[in-house]
Amino acid sequence: MKFVTYKNSSGQYIGVVDTGGTNVLPLREVHEKMGGETALPADMLEAISMGEIFYQEAEKTVAWVSKNNLDSDLYIQLESVELLAPIPRPAKNIFCVGKNYAEHAIEMGSKDDIPEHVMVFTKAPTSVISHNQDIHEHGGLTEQLDYEGELAVVIGKKGKGIKREEALDYVFGYTIINDVTARDLQAKHKQFFIGKSLDTTCPMGPWIVHKSAIANPNNLDIKTTVNGEVRQDSNTENFIFPVEEVIAVLSQGMTLEPGDIIATGTPAGVGKGYNPQRFLKAGDTIEITVESIGTLRNKVTSE
Ligand code: MG
Repeated sequence: MKFVTYKNSSGQYIGVVDTGGTNVLPLREVHEKMGGETALPADMLEAISMGEIFYQEAEKTVAWVSKNNLDSDLYIQLESVELLAPIPRPAKNIFCVGKNYAEHAIEMGSKDDIPEHVMVFTKAPTSVISHNQDIHEHGGLTEQLDYEGELAVVIGKKGKGIKREEALDYVFGYTIINDVTARDLQAKHKQFFIGKSLDTTCPMGPWIVHKSAIANPNNLDIKTTVNGEVRQDSNTENFIFPVEEVIAVLSQGMTLEPGDIIATGTPAGVGKGYNPQRFLKAGDTIEITVESIGTLRNKVTSE
């Protein structure tokens, strides 16, 4: 099941997108129509915080609609609403794994850059934008804006000291993140934070796919194109640290909470890795496709 956050003239809501990815079911409203006992929230963070019951109620609602042949009455066109990032304003910074694919670590430096331990930095919540929203070029501030296609994990359950073998129980679902990076700022300020946190540099979405639809997050094709040209083409089986390991390490002494987001790192093929280097410019369109999730598309603009 694919969960979106969207906006229309009456407010902001959560919806379930149909298998074709073109229509959305207004979850709260339809759930109420069905006579669902627990009221569903309109906010994704609140919904995820409800735990398993949220997914169960969503599943019941979708089944009720289909059983009563109400699909054409109740689903609305995705095009008729404004899609937001599935979690438009994360409660805390987005956790990002650095150098989680060996080939990418090598293109950023050398074999010596392949990490022995999970490497984590963060992006500010204010950097988040949705599918189809524009990435600002930040002209005058950076000359080296770069893309990084990544699988992202959304945590569904509070936990600390999570064991590897139980780690996936703490996941709500998966989405796609473009970890857009100002390489010159990343280098200049030493710590990654500024170069990773400019406004609009965390495109996320289009939706969160519930974990039940992803048998193994460590075996998904991931591809990034710029203006249709393939730049990154890999599979998450190439992770140095699989999702379970990342969750276990992050939660060793730090509580993970529902709605926390972890971007799992990018494969080889970023603009900085090319010779000559190929950074983003206004007019470029970046598309990141992750198997079983979908495609996240954003354009770079000078505005
Ligand atoms: Mg990254």
